[in-house]
Amino acid sequence: MSLFFDHNATTLIRRSALDLAVSVMAETGNAASVHSFGRQAARHVETARRKIAGTLAVDPGQVVFNSGATEGNNTILRAFAERRILVSAIEHPSVLESGVEAETIPVTKDGVVDLAALADLLRATPQPALVSVMLVNNETGVIQPVAEIARMSRAAGAMVHCDAVQGFGRIPVTRESLGVDFMTISAHKIGGMQGVGALVFAPGIQVPRLIQGGGQEKRLRGGTVNVAGIASFGEAALEACGNLEAFAQLSVLRERIESHITGYPGVTILGRGADRVSNTVMATVEGVSGDTCLMAFDLEGVALSAGSACSSGATRLSATLRAMGIPENKTLSSLRMSLGHSSTEKEVDEFLRVWDKVMPRLLGNRP
Ligand code: PMP
Repeated sequence: MSLFFDHNATTLIRRSALDLAVSVMAETGNAASVHSFGRQAARHVETARRKIAGTLAVDPGQVVFNSGATEGNNTILRAFAERRILVSAIEHPSVLESGVEAETIPVTKDGVVDLAALADLLRATPQPALVSVMLVNNETGVIQPVAEIARMSRAAGAMVHCDAVQGFGRIPVTRESLGVDFMTISAHKIGGMQGVGALVFAPGIQVPRLIQGGGQEKRLRGGTVNVAGIASFGEAALEACGNLEAFAQLSVLRERIESHITGYPGVTILGRGADRVSNTVMATVEGVSGDTCLMAFDLEGVALSAGSACSSGATRLSATLRAMGIPENKTLSSLRMSLGHSSTEKEVDEFLRVWDKVMPRLLGNRP
């Protein structure tokens, strides 16, 4: 049996999104062409735009499709380069490493943006032009007080961006409820295709462009649009946003995982004291490397994620855990289990059985 417990990295494509994408892919037509084939492709794109706009309670004209949240985040950060930018210390690398200088807002030990520190940063001069804070952290699942952050930042004269990738389609959210100027979202985190996302913006503001040279998306984003991917995104958004209650119920499965694994010595759940999205368990296992765990579980057919990624012999420590004050040795022993729309009780039972098989051996090998 293979078990996928890495839904924060990407989640299974939804059946309705897949079926629509396959049927659209079988058609021909560039959505920018004026002939009937092009118009049919454009209809698919506009239908998806309406679906997504509806779920976020914005006008369809406030949605620009792009290649995903990395592009969306880069688009916003780069537009404010050379001006004062504040970003939380736990943002995704597509914000923290966008190539644009930014000051970081610290977080509490539970991984929540420190509002008092933000207030100090907002008071300092020059006045910040942009504040960027994510809605839900991808590693810990901790929900950030974005509406309050937006209120404070706008009062200080800054524009506000929210990377809503891990929150959209999981918890109730609209652009207005967050009060932000810009939001980035991504299809593959909610059951659409990979490589598609959108930038959503407030009415009446100038929208930054990253990719130029093409009149697509009302000149806001150059390049032939991914018609099938966009169609899948629209369908996935409808389905995900129509089933928020079912997603919230994943907390029952998460609780089962957390209470079981904390029965083992040295296992700590991070962010437990904060408001969290229902699907994410971020744990540290004292004395055992996250990478070793990941491989041991992979051999048993279980896909998890380690908080710090090892690539080409170099270990990349998680900026999120560092910002939460987690010491390096604990960061190296972090493991993330994330559930999704397809997760079942049976899968969790099987996962816990594998845990009971793998962990005593790994814990027994500790130095
Ligand atoms: N922001 C967050 C919080 C994410 O989790 C991810 C995906 N790992 C991204 C941005 C990047 O999204 P995409 O894969 O669409 O580029």
